[in-house]
Amino acid sequence: MKEYYSSLFKGNVHVTTPFSTSHPAIDLGNYKTRNPIYSPNFAGNGKVTKQTDSYKYNGITYSNTLTQWIAYDTGFETCTVHGSTKDRILKVGDKVEIGQLVYRTGNTGYSFGDHLHFQLKKGGALIDPAPYVLNDLNFKPDDMLNIKDRVEIKADTWMRKGPGIEYEDSKYLVKKGSVGTVVGGPRNVDGYEWWDINFKKCPEVSKFNQGWMANVNGDRFVVTSKAQTCVDGSDGVVVPPEPVDSCKDLREENIKLKNDLKEVVAVNDHLNSEINVLTQEVLLLQDELDNSISQQAKEEETDVLLAIVLKRVQYEKSKL
Ligand SMILES: [Zn+2]
Repeated sequence: MKEYYSSLFKGNVHVTTPFSTSHPAIDLGNYKTRNPIYSPNFAGNGKVTKQTDSYKYNGITYSNTLTQWIAYDTGFETCTVHGSTKDRILKVGDKVEIGQLVYRTGNTGYSFGDHLHFQLKKGGALIDPAPYVLNDLNFKPDDMLNIKDRVEIKADTWMRKGPGIEYEDSKYLVKKGSVGTVVGGPRNVDGYEWWDINFKKCPEVSKFNQGWMANVNGDRFVVTSKAQTCVDGSDGVVVPPEPVDSCKDLREENIKLKNDLKEVVAVNDHLNSEINVLTQEVLLLQDELDNSISQQAKEEETDVLLAIVLKRVQYEKSKL
């Protein structure tokens, strides 16, 4: 699933359900449970105007679902759904600023997993929140690194296989003074800004020549005009592997149960074929029994005829 940065999560998210007329909100998740949600970059200052402990969907009311409305000075109104009432952070009337913790995700109510249902209104009308909350980095464009920028490493830095400390480091320490080309990013994960940097053709970087680095404090690497001696100009972006899957146990159990089911079906098939063989045998025996019964009847008939003939012979003899 495609990853985005969102200031709602201060990190990367997936869109689990996009905005549509039947779903006038956006659903965002990131595999984690009870994820902290922050007041987004675009909205400015606001105030909590309403909270309910239940949520109505398609005429059904779901209890223990914290639903929270915040009205912002900029004219936006947000509504967040699916948190647990036990995770309430704010109360009605509390003031809210950019980046403030305002909510925690949950999977209460009409939901198939932990996610944030985020509704956005402007001037009272429901609008698609995606352009406001996806890739909404709060940087001035001039301050930002750009793809294809050449950067110089200002301090020895470990390279990782993906953006975030949960990704394995590629066991390559990029030395101070190395020059690379930015080929991907930024991703904001674990409180750092991560960039995918290519060091191809650096003599000292042969095996692991591309990976993700955190620009700690924004000055770990800086744009440079140094010659491109260590760069081959390729912009093949490294696609990071999927992060650790929190549903792994359930998936494995599901596979095991499916295998068990296969075994049960196989045993059942085997028993059915044995029943078929036995049924055939019973039919054969029945046939044999029928045959022997008719044989016996014929023998008895022959005996009766024989007796009649014998009597007739005796009678004829007596007349002689
Ligand atoms: Zn939703």
